[in-house]
Amino acid sequence: MNPTRNSGFSTRAIHFGHDPAQHQGALVPPIYSSATYAFPDAAYGGRCFAGTEPGYFYSRVGNPTLALLEGRLANLEGGAGAVVFGSGMGAISATLWSMLKQGDEVLADLTLYGCTFSLLNHGLTRFGITVRHLDMTDPHQVALAIGSNTRLVYCESPANPNMRLIDIAAVSAIAHQRGVAVVVDNTYCTPYLQQPLLLGADVSLHSMTKYLGGHGDLMAGAAIFADAELAQQVRLTGLKDMTGAVLSAFDAHLVMRGLKTLALRMDRHCNSAQQVAELLLQHPATDLVYFPGLPTFAQYALARRQMRQFGGMVAFELKGGMAAGIRFMDALQLVTRAVSLGDAETLAQHPASMTHATYTAEQRAVHGISEGLVRLSVGLEDPQDILADIRQALDQAMK
Ligand SMILES: *Cc1c(COP(=O)(O)O)cnc(C)c1O
Repeated sequence: MNPTRNSGFSTRAIHFGHDPAQHQGALVPPIYSSATYAFPDAAYGGRCFAGTEPGYFYSRVGNPTLALLEGRLANLEGGAGAVVFGSGMGAISATLWSMLKQGDEVLADLTLYGCTFSLLNHGLTRFGITVRHLDMTDPHQVALAIGSNTRLVYCESPANPNMRLIDIAAVSAIAHQRGVAVVVDNTYCTPYLQQPLLLGADVSLHSMTKYLGGHGDLMAGAAIFADAELAQQVRLTGLKDMTGAVLSAFDAHLVMRGLKTLALRMDRHCNSAQQVAELLLQHPATDLVYFPGLPTFAQYALARRQMRQFGGMVAFELKGGMAAGIRFMDALQLVTRAVSLGDAETLAQHPASMTHATYTAEQRAVHGISEGLVRLSVGLEDPQDILADIRQALDQAMK
């Protein structure tokens, strides 16, 4: 069976691109672990390298297991092509290295994943690329900032850790009017909750280490493109030559296993996160709750317009600052103290004492990380158990 774009999301996530009849009846696609491929004659090999023959020749450039995953991802997100990578940072760096050249300017939102922030400000800037940060929650700021060297607009929505949203359709319309490309990191949402390309973006990026893999047992990334030619350019320069950040066929297989249950898992993540957000909102230990699905959330209307559901990530601020944050973290019994997100296990992260502990309090304030901020990746455990653990840890945080 090869479902069309009209089939439902899960049907395509499970079946798209694989025909068991072509693989000796194997229901699960085979894993091609081969690094290289035999040429029937010398001329065939020559044509492969010249790009006039579509065959496989080396797995850093193309592999049948990876190609199946790439086709499935492009289909699920309405793209013309996709390229997979050995990590989310592999996808982000290969895409940016391919699209930018010396003298170009990148406009980026204020809030970015930490390593993306470093790649932009400490990596690309060493090679003559300029990076300017602005608050893209106001799309008008993008219109004002675009200059003659601006080549690319980069954002995440929702953004970590305060969950602020960017209006992807509005930003894309503004950028395209001026011939500027739009790249969106869609990791928090997955193709199931948000489809940036259909909203107008040119590239949608994913850390598949998170929800797409879904089980915390692999690292992988993907870039999905509205334009097939750009996909090919990123494959042949960003992946093949500039990063070599190739995904292993075994991990591609695991991502496809994760994809089969993505919609089911996301429904559960979203539903439980909503319950956690509501508990946090009414508990006296908390000051502020950041979750797009709360009517009190500043961008609730945009969330309803842009996302299918509100995601599995919740952030909140404790009234008691650093000390309360540490008490909350240490009181958790079921919820695991760990970075990353999108796993079956509920994970809690306290930036001030963990990922951003090396910053001074003043530096954290500049970057909008308050001392009592906690981030939760709400997992797939029974919601009453997650809620009970968080409730007792909040009680402890107040002591
Ligand atoms: C984790 C993450 C990345 C980086 O992905 P890796 O797979 O860890 O390389 C990029 N963006 C976001 C939003 C992430 O959460």
